[in-house]
Amino acid sequence: MEQGAADVPVIYLHEIKRQYVQGETTLTILDGAKLALWPGQSVALVAPSGAGKSTLLHIAGLLESADHGEVYVGGAATSGLSDVERTQIRRTDIGFVYQSHRLLPEFSALENVMLPQMIRGLKRGETVKRASEILSYLGLGERIKHRPAELSGGEQQRVAIARAVANAPRALLADEPTGNLDPHTADHVFGALMQLVKATRVAMLIATHNMELASRMDRRVSLVDGQVVELD
Ligand code: ADP
Repeated sequence: MEQGAADVPVIYLHEIKRQYVQGETTLTILDGAKLALWPGQSVALVAPSGAGKSTLLHIAGLLESADHGEVYVGGAATSGLSDVERTQIRRTDIGFVYQSHRLLPEFSALENVMLPQMIRGLKRGETVKRASEILSYLGLGERIKHRPAELSGGEQQRVAIARAVANAPRALLADEPTGNLDPHTADHVFGALMQLVKATRVAMLIATHNMELASRMDRRVSLVDGQVVELD
């Protein structure tokens, strides 16, 4: 690790404001939200539906822009960057997991995990090796040739996690990643995420409604009136 790197948040949201205009009304969803994500720390984002969890995740993941405020990735401000530069950071530094797996149906598990690495420009041989290793690590070594439709919901979601970490991101952002799964499978998928945080020191932010899972994470935050508050 670079000297001093541990002192810099992987992602730092500073005074984030985000409004949506709906007809005559303006909805203020985020209103000065601040949050630091640290290497190796898992953070649960627990708030009612409509509170702005997805909005916060999308802004942290540079998928959406804030109206005011700044998103720092590895200490560097991102608001002045071009779309190309933001896309580059998303590819290398940030992994995203959605509630539904969003895998490409016509590709195998292995190919789904290879793709982000190939887009980044790695050689095919390297991507096969790394994708196989990650899938095996997540307990899917016997399933790499299967297409998404031939996998269970929990397996599909673990492939999606493997894809999200394929380029060894510094941050892993997950929007209700276990929301579509039964409790037992959710537990298994959650276990895979926690295992990755400990093994790779990725910073993880998970939006979840599941208080039991949230209680097993390092830190819990919520959104109140557009601001991030610590829950304990
Ligand atoms: P959560 O993830 O906590 O359920 P969201 O971030 O999805 O909350 O949404 C917060 C609020 O912002 C909701 O009221 C939603 O309707 C509104 N919203 C989200 N995205 C848009 C958009 N693109 N345009 C207008 N309103 C939106």
